[in-house]
Amino acid sequence: MMNTIEKQISAMLNDLGRLFSENIRYENCPHGGEYHAFLRVCDSCEHSISCYWLTENNPHLAKRKPVKQLVQELKNAHDTVLAEIGRSHQTVTCTCDYCAWLRACDRLFLDPSMGRRFRQ
Ligand SMILES: [Zn+2]
Repeated sequence: MMNTIEKQISAMLNDLGRLFSENIRYENCPHGGEYHAFLRVCDSCEHSISCYWLTENNPHLAKRKPVKQLVQELKNAHDTVLAEIGRSHQTVTCTCDYCAWLRACDRLFLDPSMGRRFRQ
């Protein structure tokens, strides 16, 4: 059985996966939306970051991971979104879905049970 914090982390990762997949226009992708690290075309693609993340983080596998790993993945995802999207947004006030996700993430990191996980 998953406890509450695991459910919340999984939900956050799923939300980000949905955000990313909604914003990728696969009709222009010659690889059917599969990220290939060794292809230059993937590196220069405007969807590079989100596509890479979706390939590396299958949300359907998230629930089988230990909570410590989930916390780390959420932290990595947060850092990625902040670096790639947040740098051109006012993340505190911006109303876009990514900035709203970042703020929800920050709130979750403040959750007391989350703090315990970080100290493990
Ligand atoms: Zn924004």
